[in-house]
Amino acid sequence: MSLKEQMTKSLIETLTAIEAHLHALRETDPGPLNISRKDISELTSIPPSPAATPPGKPLGAPAKKTIVSSSERPSPSTVQLSEIAARIAVCTRCPLQSTRTKTVPGQGHPQPELLFIGEGPGSEEDQQGLAFVGRSGALLTRLIERMGLARDQVFIANMVKCRPTEKGEGRKDRPPAPEEIEACLPYLRQQIAVLRPKVIISLGNVALEGLTGLKGITRLRGKWLKFETTDLMPTYHPSFLLRGGGDDKARYWEVWDDMCEVLRRISRPVPEIHTRRPES
Ligand code: URA
Repeated sequence: MSLKEQMTKSLIETLTAIEAHLHALRETDPGPLNISRKDISELTSIPPSPAATPPGKPLGAPAKKTIVSSSERPSPSTVQLSEIAARIAVCTRCPLQSTRTKTVPGQGHPQPELLFIGEGPGSEEDQQGLAFVGRSGALLTRLIERMGLARDQVFIANMVKCRPTEKGEGRKDRPPAPEEIEACLPYLRQQIAVLRPKVIISLGNVALEGLTGLKGITRLRGKWLKFETTDLMPTYHPSFLLRGGGDDKARYWEVWDDMCEVLRRISRPVPEIHTRRPES
């Protein structure tokens, strides 16, 4: 790669990092800043000349007044998550960096009870920089809403933050390789340390194996496991459910049973209506 190409790449990555940072900060929607006329005049006024500076006050000391009230400031978790997202945006730890459009750090509530972890971004996610926004994402959203929650009350992430694809024409999606998962795991660990969810829900075999080292989602789904000290519930991946017909089919109701178990674990009500399953 020529020097010019390297500089262009690094410039693009820096801009992507800034975009990810701003995006993560915007996730909390802090609303408009309360800037008063007085604040504006203070911000735009010419600073006092050194002669006018009171004795003992160092030149260039930060202004005491802050223009953002504490209720509007992003929470420490939001800031930490956006810092992790910014590091992910410039990550070069594995070869997936060379084919990604956007990194997909994951998104949602900065202090959620539940953290859903999938496999890796697909084409839609790679374009938008957001996890689970394709067809699997729509099914996951319906599931979360059936649980009596909204998507922005939980956090949704993946084992790898860049889209894994086959080489060559068509760029078909593929599962992440073990080395790619290993390279990306420190980011997920950092996110989990900030999020401190009550329960992690791993979606599919890749997340189950990546988080616990155990194989066999059919055998292990619905059984409580641990990721370090956090309770972990393995269940099927939404794309597996889609292959089996989507909502209301047999596999879907197994996932629903797992989610009811999760709701009980976090002392949330299990929606009555969904305990009466339709014929599959
Ligand atoms: N979209 C994601 O973000 N992750 C998956 O595992 C599948 C689709």
